[in-house]
Amino acid sequence: MSIAAPAQKGGEWLINGVQTDAVLTPESLSDEQRMIGQMAAEFVTKEVRPALEQLEAKDWNLARQLIRRCGELGLLGVDVPETYGGVALDKVSSVVVGEAIGPCASFATTFGAQTGLAIIPILCFGTEAQKQKYLPKIVSGEWLGAYCLSESGAGSDALGARARAVKQADGSWVLNGEKMWITNGGFADVFIIFAKVDGEQFSAFIVERTFPGVSNGKEEHKLGLHGSSTTPVVLSDAKVPAENLLGEVGRGHKIAFNVLNYGRFKLAAMSSGGAQSTLAEAAAYALTRRQFGQPIATFGAIGHKLAEMSIRAYALESALYRTAGLIDAAVAGSHDPAVVLAALEEYAIESSMLKVTGSETIAFCVDENVQIHGGNGFVRDYPAERHYRDARVNRIFEGTNEINRLLVPGMLIKRAVKGGLGVIPAAKKLQDELLSPSMPGEEPQDPLEQAARTVTALKKCALMTLGLGMQTYGEKLGDEQEALMMMSDIMMDTFLAESAVLRARQAAGSAAAKSLAPLHADAAAVFAHDAGLRCETTARTLLAAMASGDTLRTSLAALRRLLKVAPINTVAARRRIATAVRDKKGYPWT
Ligand SMILES: Cc1cc2nc3c(=O)[nH]c(=O)nc-3n(C[C@H](O)[C@H](O)[C@H](O)COP(=O)(O)OP(=O)(O)OC[C@H]3O[C@@H](n4cnc5c(N)ncnc54)[C@H](O)[C@@H]3O)c2cc1C
Repeated sequence: MSIAAPAQKGGEWLINGVQTDAVLTPESLSDEQRMIGQMAAEFVTKEVRPALEQLEAKDWNLARQLIRRCGELGLLGVDVPETYGGVALDKVSSVVVGEAIGPCASFATTFGAQTGLAIIPILCFGTEAQKQKYLPKIVSGEWLGAYCLSESGAGSDALGARARAVKQADGSWVLNGEKMWITNGGFADVFIIFAKVDGEQFSAFIVERTFPGVSNGKEEHKLGLHGSSTTPVVLSDAKVPAENLLGEVGRGHKIAFNVLNYGRFKLAAMSSGGAQSTLAEAAAYALTRRQFGQPIATFGAIGHKLAEMSIRAYALESALYRTAGLIDAAVAGSHDPAVVLAALEEYAIESSMLKVTGSETIAFCVDENVQIHGGNGFVRDYPAERHYRDARVNRIFEGTNEINRLLVPGMLIKRAVKGGLGVIPAAKKLQDELLSPSMPGEEPQDPLEQAARTVTALKKCALMTLGLGMQTYGEKLGDEQEALMMMSDIMMDTFLAESAVLRARQAAGSAAAKSLAPLHADAAAVFAHDAGLRCETTARTLLAAMASGDTLRTSLAALRRLLKVAPINTVAARRRIATAVRDKKGYPWT
């Protein structure tokens, strides 16, 4: 069953409670969503995995053929209307497809640039003529696309671009400049290029490879993603017809930021799929590798690793589907670009959180996978080292994790100040509540209910630190990056812990998921428990930086009362999860 979540606003989860049945979980996918996921997974197994070596050797013809196959299978136009050659499904379907493609990181990057970075700008900001001309070709995979925002001197500060566009007497444009690190740069047919009109007004253009003055530089020698093309794109008096301006002059930032919102969300889906497949690889190896007369998978230390990989992947996946459900509920089946853009912007906070937690979850998993492989993890005979190298860039592109961490509380505070989100009154109310020493009494016995209680405490912890930050620094809070990063960490742990708890509660109440319900509860309980400990340390550091004297003493006392996380036996819970990973030879909840 695909449920329509109530339209909870972006960031609202921090202030208000969420009904268990109001969140979308991977267990509540529709048959149609499952089918497209299976089809994508089959395509990856049968066609992409056998091609990996050739892709690593930069066989771009093969990359093109595989994208063409994706087009034939309808995988490129999952969320594109049928009029332009798409299959007009929902955002949950694009998450399902992203998770399936994610394990083949290089190809996933080619695919992501095509679907997220080339299609979305034209779909959401193009004129009808531009959509008619370009989308069918890109959605079918006949043409490859690329997105050219970064420059050597303008990465995080993308609006500092130096590429220039000058309007000609006949209305056409001449572009000059060099774009850097462009995915699909070596073979794309069409580029979305950002340049400043007269060096001032940041704007976007649709530029074909065959236009005079367009070329690409040499392939970059990268740490990973060797099977994905990354080159500079050079514009040397490039001639661009008048009708290829995308959107309006001076409004390029709208395109750039909205595309990134969606790109971040999709990157999280790919990271989620990658984390799960890495776990399966680690489990398979650990079950066959024997030391001291037994498979290493049976050692507690290795079991702990397999369990922790699973728990983090579980929390990430829970938050991912929850957000996809919220976006789909906001879009309500519409493919009107204005509606889709508004929804993506509404959940930009969640998309940034997912980008950071997704890239860090897969980073954790690929690192533990190398460790489980021992020496074999460090040599090319096994894919573990490739996964390790390939995953590193996820923390860099689509906005670095630092930039995204800063955006999370930044966007929330902006909305709060504008009055759209009740963070300020909630923080004030909480302050009064925390001053009274009486906090709710008895601990629940059930670990899942304890976890739910920890989540409530984490929300208060996030609000408390945000509120104190606003009080202490006022408008200057934006300059306090260390504080913002810590606030962001607390918010992300809170969102993931709550998503995991809500999913586990749903599993407990669902007949279909019943047999796995205890395992859901274990994952959610351990994640929330550890999140409580992490957030306590972070919040203490944060409070000590923001307050002193009596205010600090009172705040720390309140924090202690708030985050008194009752210890649970996480060793036993992880052992149960490790057993399930060994039995399933991978992610236990699929
Ligand atoms: C394999 C690969 C593929 C890519 N594909 C594309 C593509 O298809 N299209 C495209 O346009 N770009 C692409 N990029 C570029 C990528 O988006 C940028 O590398 C990224 O945005 C970071 O920019 P930068 O490299 O200039 O780093 P910088 O911006 O120089 O950042 C360096 C460090 O400083 C930090 N930092 C920067 N500003 C701040 C700040 N205000 N506060 C705190 N810390 C800060 C960053 O977080 C980072 O840790 C790709 C990059 C790679 C490696």
